[in-house]
Amino acid sequence: MPKHNKSWVKSKTIITLVGTCRYCSKELLNTDSFVSFYPKGHAHYQCMREDDELQKKVLDSVEKQLQQEKKFDW
Ligand SMILES: [Zn+2]
Repeated sequence: MPKHNKSWVKSKTIITLVGTCRYCSKELLNTDSFVSFYPKGHAHYQCMREDDELQKKVLDSVEKQLQQEKKFDW
């Protein structure tokens, strides 16, 4: 009696193209974790996070600079 092994059917997920990432400009699939922007646009969640962290680092360094400048402002 032959076994009907259907384990090759891994999932019924249909992969569709959502759009392109606004950070890395690569294609974005609905299986990726992504974020949507208002009114339009999408991005990989990872790309957005990296951009977020980059902005914070820039802000941090600007703030530090300002604080150091204040130190010498008698
Ligand atoms: Zn991306």
